[in-house]
Amino acid sequence: MKITSATIYPLSVPLMEPIKMSREIVADAKTVLLCISDEEGRQGWGEASVAPLMTGETLDSLVGSVKYLVEQAKNWEWTEPKKFAEEFAKILYGNASAKSCLEMALLDLFTQQQSIPLWRYLRQENNLPDVETPAPIPLLRMLGGSFDKEVADAKSFRELGFRHWKIKIGSLSLAEDLHRVEALSNLLEGDVISVDANGAMSLSDAIQFCESKEASKLSFAEQLVPADLPLEDFVLLKKRSPIPIGLDESIHGLSEIEEFIKAKALDGASLKLIKTGGVLPALEAGKTLLSQGLKMNLACKIAETSLAGAATASIGFALGEVPWGFSMSNQYLQFDICNQPLKAQEGKLDVAQLSISGIGVTPNLDRVKSAIAKGYAAIEC
Ligand SMILES: [Mg+2]
Repeated sequence: MKITSATIYPLSVPLMEPIKMSREIVADAKTVLLCISDEEGRQGWGEASVAPLMTGETLDSLVGSVKYLVEQAKNWEWTEPKKFAEEFAKILYGNASAKSCLEMALLDLFTQQQSIPLWRYLRQENNLPDVETPAPIPLLRMLGGSFDKEVADAKSFRELGFRHWKIKIGSLSLAEDLHRVEALSNLLEGDVISVDANGAMSLSDAIQFCESKEASKLSFAEQLVPADLPLEDFVLLKKRSPIPIGLDESIHGLSEIEEFIKAKALDGASLKLIKTGGVLPALEAGKTLLSQGLKMNLACKIAETSLAGAATASIGFALGEVPWGFSMSNQYLQFDICNQPLKAQEGKLDVAQLSISGIGVTPNLDRVKSAIAKGYAAIEC
């Protein structure tokens, strides 16, 4: 399988409403779509989003890396998905997001060629028994905005069937966050409720937060402290915390997962393709966590389209369980790039929404072109 042509689309898709995190406010999804063609005229699509505070990528740097990678990759024969990561490393050091974008497009082509859905290919790689319809994946719904809005959203989305929640913390005082967390925990009692500070807390605040009775109903607390703290701090937090500790910004791939497991510094991790460098490395990371009795969530960066959503969901269908839920971020976009965006059904994503070959979602070119970021243009390689 060879890449005969490629087009890169730098996109900016507005969110329904800005999402406030501890260290940034995201108002639009800056994401890069890649369309590659093979010798037989098939088209494969890939996506990766910018994440300046998680991967260091901006739209300019991501477009530049994807372009470089794809131009070099055009001369290569791509036949064995398990070797893709090794081959990418021969072209470009680091740059996990760009590699994830190309890997996704190549996997889309490969699984179309095999007439198999990506999720089934991954499930075979995971040695799980083949099934026609794997269990739907629970979706993780983020709560944000004013406290009144959080309460109203929690009630209305719970009625729609959502049972997994994420409360963003770290931009208010510790006392205010604890008050919100307690009130929302009481409202959503029995559900999988989590908080995410995106590394904004000091170690002492994080310990105080976890030990407080207001946080006692949480299912896990994600990335309370900055990723650049020494490992001993994470070990101490885990030791002192009565609630499970999840990590996101601290975990980019398997080597960090193994290091934190060895140090007994986590109860689970958040897996994103832009961090792991693609679908297959994320599958390996998920397998490792589950095999150690740890938890994981799957997540798209805020925000990615249905394309990255479908590729990430495929890992969940292949693993057979996503204990901490799947944060499918296309639900926060004003519009999506395909005709039938992935949608929650009773708070879950079912496999029937994915087509029977490839990633399962095909972008509509007119929609893609209408979302090109201001000051940018499609790039032919
Ligand atoms: Mg997170």
